[in-house]
Amino acid sequence: MNGVRGVVLFDFGGTLDADGARWSVRFHAAYVTAGGQQPFAVFEEAFRASDRALVRVTGISTLGFRAMVDLQAALVLAHLPDGRALRREQIVDEFHAAALAVIRRNQELLARLQQSYRLAVVSNFTGNLGPCLEELDLMRYFSAVADSGRVGVTKPDPRLFRHALESLGAKSEPVWMVGDNFEADIRPAASLGMQTAWLAPPVARSPDAGLPTVRLTTLTELAEVLPS
Ligand SMILES: [Mg+2]
Repeated sequence: MNGVRGVVLFDFGGTLDADGARWSVRFHAAYVTAGGQQPFAVFEEAFRASDRALVRVTGISTLGFRAMVDLQAALVLAHLPDGRALRREQIVDEFHAAALAVIRRNQELLARLQQSYRLAVVSNFTGNLGPCLEELDLMRYFSAVADSGRVGVTKPDPRLFRHALESLGAKSEPVWMVGDNFEADIRPAASLGMQTAWLAPPVARSPDAGLPTVRLTTLTELAEVLPS
């Protein structure tokens, strides 16, 4: 039965580990809880710098989820004026616990979908998405993982989506793409002829009147969209 109804591709960050909130937004919330004073605009600048530093770290390709969150926290705090005064462990704990709660909730959905669809992840990541999915007990749901850090192209480049489909050996079956980033996930997937599910707050306006196919406010709503 597995795969009879088609293929479902998932983004990772903000889609499988949170209901539509980016890593920088969730990291900033944890930083503020820990006593951080910088506004989001300043924090986001430091976060981008940490993203650039992260890809250059030796051994990144084998780093698991918790270790990666810890490393990213260290890199962000190093770029902030109040970073040294804060307890990094508290920030990491909060971010990690929130992500894990959403992931545990989503496992039921993934287990159900796996009965009728082939599932894959298409993510702009740092080459270590495999180890992260293993650590989070998510790998068993997916038949393919397209990690930009390994493939060498990033969304919205259609080649990353095609890489996932080729890994699955997908031919003409229906394909859905599920993601929280309109320009990286939804628009390119639609241009490849996929159906699209956009995970975003109801107040977020679609930049394209004809897209997405469906909107979701939590990932679990996907169960109502995709027949089992
Ligand atoms: Mg995302």
